Amino acid sequence: MRVRFLGSGDALGSGGRFQTCIHVQAAGAQVLLDCGASSLVAMRRFGVDPQAIDAVVLSHLHGDHFGGVPFLILDAQFKRRTRPLTVAGPPGVEARVRATMEVLFPGSTAVERRFVTRFVELADRLPQGLGPFTVTPFPVVHASGAPSFALRLACDGKVIAYSGDTEWTEVLLDAAASSSTSTRRRCSRTARGSTAAGSS
Ligand SMILES: [Zn+2]
Repeated sequence: MRVRFLGSGDALGSGGRFQTCIHVQAAGAQVLLDCGASSLVAMRRFGVDPQAIDAVVLSHLHGDHFGGVPFLILDAQFKRRTRPLTVAGPPGVEARVRATMEVLFPGSTAVERRFVTRFVELADRLPQGLGPFTVTPFPVVHASGAPSFALRLACDGKVIAYSGDTEWTEVLLDAAASSSTSTRRRCSRTARGSTAAGSS
């Protein structure tokens, strides 16, 4: 399993870092853990082919974690992608992505494309197969207009635990149990106080 942090920044561009986007490659498949608004730029910057991404798994529905999905879909449309793309995330993920697409590119949800975008709603602690990967979401503490999750991603006997933006919660112990890698993000006070949703 190969893990690359294409983006580890927050919603405010702190440190000049790209917004959250973790590229995971294993068993011939590629997924993104979160896809912040700057993620297509980050993929170009670090030589990751957007058309090779099989699935995007979203921890929660804040713009710095899912705002790159419309750009990924638009890029795939113009590159004449034919491989299906899966977008997995909290309940309501399809509606939030489609609403964002319409705000950014009016009419874009009605465009006929050569590939299928499949939306998968994750449910608390229910393992979900995504190709060779299995993702298990754990409910955490972070207001985002939908349930927010920590994610446990498993493949080839390896496990990654990713906290998302949560404050401390004992649930993280379950998400990280026996994991190979634990990735943790932290919302700064500044970030949490400066966005419309009251958190990053
Ligand atoms: Zn957030």
